[in-house]
Amino acid sequence: MMIPENPYLLLTPGPLSTSKTVRAAMNRDWCTWDSDYNELVQTIRSSLVNLSQGGSEYTSVLMQGSGTFSVEAVLWTCLKPDSTILVISNGAYGNRMAKIASMMGVGLEVLTFSEGKQPDPEIVEKTLRAHREITHIGMVHCETTTGMRNLYAPIAELAGKWGKVFILDAMSSFGGIPLDINAPKIDFLISSANKCIQGVPGFGFVLADKGLLQECEGNSKSHSLDLFDQWQTMEKNKGKWRFTSPTHTVRAFLQALQELEEEGGIEARYQRYCTNHKILIRGMENMGIRAFLSPEDQSPIITAFHEPKNPGFSFEKLYHLLKSEGFVIYPGKVSQAPTFRIGHIGNVFPEDIHRLVAAVEKIKFW
Ligand SMILES: *Cc1c(COP(=O)(O)O)cnc(C)c1O
Repeated sequence: MMIPENPYLLLTPGPLSTSKTVRAAMNRDWCTWDSDYNELVQTIRSSLVNLSQGGSEYTSVLMQGSGTFSVEAVLWTCLKPDSTILVISNGAYGNRMAKIASMMGVGLEVLTFSEGKQPDPEIVEKTLRAHREITHIGMVHCETTTGMRNLYAPIAELAGKWGKVFILDAMSSFGGIPLDINAPKIDFLISSANKCIQGVPGFGFVLADKGLLQECEGNSKSHSLDLFDQWQTMEKNKGKWRFTSPTHTVRAFLQALQELEEEGGIEARYQRYCTNHKILIRGMENMGIRAFLSPEDQSPIITAFHEPKNPGFSFEKLYHLLKSEGFVIYPGKVSQAPTFRIGHIGNVFPEDIHRLVAAVEKIKFW
C-alpha cells in the first residue's frame, strides 16, 4: 500500500502540519513497560524541563489525552475542596479553564476581560485583596481564540507577591515563544504534544514545581487525571505511565524535540513563526483584510482576521477554495466579531506563507 503525501498544509493551531521524519518515527511498535520505551519517556521528560529552563526544582509529567485533559489533571491535582481559584479569561480557552473549575466543587472567581484586551494587573490585585480566600491563579498564555499573547508576567509576579499558586495554560505557545519558568515563577505550566513542539496529537504535559506537586498527594478526585500518581509512577518506574501510553505519539514527540534542537531551539523557531506571521499580515492587509488584534498584542502563533465586509464574502467558500489550493485554515472563535483564523505554527515555512498569500489573491471572489 502506498502512503499518500499530505494533500494540504494545516494552517491551524493543532494538530498541525508535521515533518515527514516526525511521522516516520511512528513506524514501529513499542512495549509500554519495556525499558527501551521507558528510556524515551525519561529523555523527553528531562528535555522538557530543560526547554522551560526549570532546573532541578522542576519536573515534567506526561498525561494521555488532548491538552484539555492535562488542564483538567492540573486542576484536579492542585485544588482541594477548600481551595479557591481565580481564573483570568479573555477568550474561549480561559473560559474552558473556568468551566472545568466550576464542575469541581471548589471555590471559583472568574475575572473576564474582553477578547483582545490584556488582563489588567491592577484589577487582578484588587480581586486578590477583596478575596483573601483565593489560593490559586490560572490563566492562558497565548489565547488561541484571538491569537493574543497575554502578558502573564505581571500576573505571575502578583501570584508570587500574594503567595498564590500560579497555573499557566501555555498550550499553544510552549516551544514557540521563549520563556523562563523561573522568571517570573510559573508553578504549573501546561502544554501538549501537537502544538509548537510539532509532534502528533495524543498527550499533554505539565511542568511542575516539584515541592508544590509533592504537596498534592491524595487531592485528585479523578483517578485517571491524577497528575501526582502519574508523576510517582513515572519517577518510581523510570518512565512508565499508568495505563496504556500513546507509544507512537511519544516516539514521534522525541523526534520532534530533536528537530526543534536542530532548528536552533526555541529562539530560532520563534523567529521562523514571527517571519511567517509578518508575511501573512502584510499579504492580507495588502488585500484589505484586517487583523482583529493590534500588532502589540499579536502572537506569532495564529492570527484572527476580520471577515471582509463585502456581502459576497463567505468563510465556507474561502475555506473550500483554499483547501483545493492545498491549505486548510480555521474558522473564527471570537464572539464579538465575525473572524477567521490562520495559524502559522508547525512545519510551515515563509515560502509556504508566500504561497498561501498568492493563493488567496488568486481565488479572491468577494
Ligand atoms: C489547543 C489548546 C488547548 C487544548 O485543546 P485540546 O483540543 O484539548 O488539545 C488548551 N488551551 C489552549 C490555549 C490551546 O490553544
